[in-house]
Amino acid sequence: MFDGANATIRKVNYKPPEQRKRGPLFICGKCNRALLYRKGGKTYYCRSARYESDSECRCIKGKTADIENTVLTSVLKMAELVAGSFKMKKSVMGNCSLLEKEMADIDKELMQMAAKKMALYDDYKNGKHTREEFVAKSEAMRERMELCGERQAEIKDQIEEINRLSDTNEEMKMLDEMLGMTSFELERIKQVVDKVIVHAPDELEIVYKANNFIREMVEVG
Ligand SMILES: [Zn+2]
Repeated sequence: MFDGANATIRKVNYKPPEQRKRGPLFICGKCNRALLYRKGGKTYYCRSARYESDSECRCIKGKTADIENTVLTSVLKMAELVAGSFKMKKSVMGNCSLLEKEMADIDKELMQMAAKKMALYDDYKNGKHTREEFVAKSEAMRERMELCGERQAEIKDQIEEINRLSDTNEEMKMLDEMLGMTSFELERIKQVVDKVIVHAPDELEIVYKANNFIREMVEVG
């Protein structure tokens, strides 16, 4: 019975050879071939080194744990950076409905002001104001209307930016998932990383996926 239980556990823990699955992510910096994953899982190495004894690829060999940790650390750092800048933008720009309310209030004020302006002109024509009073009051109104217009343009930009950012919710979800990684999770890493070129065991070039938001953020910022 004990033996039977062990057999079951062994079966559950069995993992298929991972070199095919892992290979395409890690690329040899010398010959551009996918690195292999040595049996037992301790080393990544280039297959060329196996057949050509003087191959430059012989130096492309590194501990899987070291290489994966380097990639994990840099992906996490990147995700943190991107998530931070998303969150900062969102909080700085505040609540969309507050902005929409302010926009409506300004619309109302502008309409009232237009009515007042007409009334002011009537009053002036009817002799209730001197010309100086009329000019001063109209000028004050014009300035106020200009300010209102500027504020409305600002609000419009902010609302557009918020809408643009809310399009990134899917990406935020993906970032949160990535930030939750405590160990190297190949499938998650592959969502954002196209390939990792190993130039030397301690010299990795991480190529983020094209059209990927992380890449965009990194290139812009
Ligand atoms: Zn190679």
